[in-house]
Amino acid sequence: MVGLVKPPASRIRDTLIIACSELGAAPDCLSFGDAERFLVLQHLAASMPSYQECENDERLSLEEVARLFDQHQFQHLIVCGHLGCGVIPYWLRPIKSGADDTNGFRRRFENGTLRLVDNHYTPKSLSERRELLIFEHVLCQIENLLTHPFLEQRVRSGKTSMYGWVVDDESARIYGYRAEESAFVLI
Ligand SMILES: [Zn+2]
Repeated sequence: MVGLVKPPASRIRDTLIIACSELGAAPDCLSFGDAERFLVLQHLAASMPSYQECENDERLSLEEVARLFDQHQFQHLIVCGHLGCGVIPYWLRPIKSGADDTNGFRRRFENGTLRLVDNHYTPKSLSERRELLIFEHVLCQIENLLTHPFLEQRVRSGKTSMYGWVVDDESARIYGYRAEESAFVLI
């Protein structure tokens, strides 16, 4: 996290933020850094397909991210969810069979984040379950990103660092994932 908080020496675009499409211009609410540093890519719930998913489904690809990395050689990649997310609660609602599931996003959520939370946690309320899903969904997308060789190599060689963030929509505070503590903490 240190490299990210440190003021950049120049206004180089060194950070890619993959944010939920509902979140709007996420960097506007960040308390540090020059907005010009950030390039924001918006996807439903910041969902990113794994390498294997892209191999098995021609509708999915990470080409857009790869192209942006070719252009900017980002030093930081942030996957950014938010507590007020409406997409994840929407995916939890029952649907009629055969209903539209653009790019299989809901099915991928059910097989990934939802299964993980239901197998590993016993939330005491629906709102606690929803929050767990929002936090874990960010980590699942980072895992998916790391299955792509070009990103895995950049991270392994230290060229790019990855971060998981969840924005509290009401306070604009950010929870960042700390791997050493296996927890999200306010930053
Ligand atoms: Zn959202």
